[in-house]
Amino acid sequence: MIKIENVEKSFGELDILKGVSLTINKGDVVSILGASGSGKSTLVRCINGLEKIQAGTILVNELSVSDKKDLSNIRKNVSTVFQHFNLYPHLSIIDNITLAPIEVLGQSKEKATSKALELLQVVDLMDKANAFPAQLSGGQKQRIGICRALAMEPEYLLLDEVTSALDPEMTSEVLDVLAELARTGTTLIFVTHEIAFAKKISNRIVFLDEGKVRADLDKDNFFSATGGKKDPRIARFLEKMD
Ligand code: ADP
Ligand code: MG
Repeated sequence: MIKIENVEKSFGELDILKGVSLTINKGDVVSILGASGSGKSTLVRCINGLEKIQAGTILVNELSVSDKKDLSNIRKNVSTVFQHFNLYPHLSIIDNITLAPIEVLGQSKEKATSKALELLQVVDLMDKANAFPAQLSGGQKQRIGICRALAMEPEYLLLDEVTSALDPEMTSEVLDVLAELARTGTTLIFVTHEIAFAKKISNRIVFLDEGKVRADLDKDNFFSATGGKKDPRIARFLEKMD
């Protein structure tokens, strides 16, 4: 379980997260929605300890991201996929995927490779194992980005606008992979502008507004006229995204 309590994060004078509390249970598929600048990426970066929080606590399976020793264990359980895939250009696809399992988890090359090939099959890119990133389309690179995150066998997968650099066709390739992951019970925390997709795969929706959780509702409730949409701020946001 990820337990976020009263988290405050600022950059200098600028308060970005203003007392965020949120619990994510194993098996949850949580979409984080909110206007640009509302603090979604900052929250994701705080969860995996890429940003230091000024107040509050973030516990992942009872370990604290603010504790240096805990953080290295947390990072074995939490993988993140970003908008820009950040594949290593000089490494083949298979080496991109196996690097961290070998270096960080200490897996043998054989074990890491066989797992990587399994994952490539899931995203339907077996034939690219020996290709280099420059030879792949954006959608393919992002599917590899997801493979690379999954190769760490994380309990939690954080995804920050993983499709926003992709055209519609590539977006749907990547969303198909995520829908499959959601179906198989991977815990997903998913920052997105793809409202229809969020509606399809999530069990919960968190709406961030100016650094605060404005709504944290189960999916059906969030999208209902008598639930989330009763809040004019949320209704307006959803209208604009339509
Ligand atoms: P979102 O992902 O919801 O669009 P972000 O978390 O990226 O929002 O950003 C929230 C606010 O924090 C923005 O106003 C942004 O300019 C600011 N911000 C993010 N990262 C930094 C940083 N490293 N230094 C200063 N300000 C930042
Ligand atoms: Mg962002």
